[in-house]
Amino acid sequence: MATIAFIGLGNMGGPMAANLAKAGHEVRAFDLSSKALDEAKSQGCSVANSAQEAAKGADFVISMLPAGKHVRGLYVDGDTPLFDVLSTEALVIDCSTIDADTARDVATAGAEKGIGFVDAPVSGGVGGAKAGALTFIVGGSEAQFAQAKPVLEPMAKNIFHAGDHGAGQIAKVCNNMLLSILMAGTCEAINMGVKNGLDPAVLSEIMKQSSGGNWALNGYNPYPGVMENAPASNGYQGGFQVDLMFKDLGLAMDVSQLSASPVPMGSAARSLFNLHKANGNGKLDFSSLMQFYQDKDA
Ligand code: NAD
Repeated sequence: MATIAFIGLGNMGGPMAANLAKAGHEVRAFDLSSKALDEAKSQGCSVANSAQEAAKGADFVISMLPAGKHVRGLYVDGDTPLFDVLSTEALVIDCSTIDADTARDVATAGAEKGIGFVDAPVSGGVGGAKAGALTFIVGGSEAQFAQAKPVLEPMAKNIFHAGDHGAGQIAKVCNNMLLSILMAGTCEAINMGVKNGLDPAVLSEIMKQSSGGNWALNGYNPYPGVMENAPASNGYQGGFQVDLMFKDLGLAMDVSQLSASPVPMGSAARSLFNLHKANGNGKLDFSSLMQFYQDKDA
């Protein structure tokens, strides 16, 4: 069993750290939020006073942070970057969704100090994190992938090696751009059906069994009350925030620009999520885009 420093215990990181502790690893948890630390303690993790304290002597550091600036701040910048604390035996596994350039830069900064780093963003949402059924998309060398895999297993349903450093982030951004398009289309279709007198649950079941079936409709229905465990049935709380989807769509637009890849559907989805965020919905789950389509006086 390994000693793992786990940094970032939010909607995703909290349950991921809990699953590692449940599997018998020694998990030293750190987050800026004391509430998140209390929860990690109740799930069998030990709690550190700083990221540096958690990382000292650890075999692995796993991070699950909002964006690239947080990841760079943890490992490379700041007063005591973790690359100054870790041993050369340690492997850093960053599961945050960030831009591929930052992932490559941080990997290079680690390599200069003899410390391995892989990008390993995930898919599967909070439900997947709780169930230990995430898909990990890893960017790094073959040897680093082999080193990371056993530690990821208690949190995973699938573990893919996408390619070298940064490849995990590129694959993740392609996936989330597609997800945003599927969610927007699903909201649009359900709203039109409901406005024409259909029951949202009946319509959803019909489309699930027909050619419109997709992940957003099948497992994450955006209409309140249709799917008991979906964020839509819980006031759009928890889940995957509009702010984070908006960030991911910004990353997708950067990748599109740099590679001259046409993304008209992704651009449209980004505009929709931008308007929805501008209306004050950034902290809601991304399926709340449903409200964007609904009549406000209905
Ligand atoms: P979150 O906002 O719930 O959690 C982020 C956590 O990081 C917070 O608890 C915050 O206090 C902590 N944090 C920030 N800076 C820190 C620092 N310097 N040191 C220690 N802790 C720090 O976000 P989340 O939903 O858990 O998402 C985390 C990452 O996972 C994001 O990059 C997101 O894009 C990605 N992701 C989220 C989902 C999802 O469904 N929520 C799915 C796949 C990927």
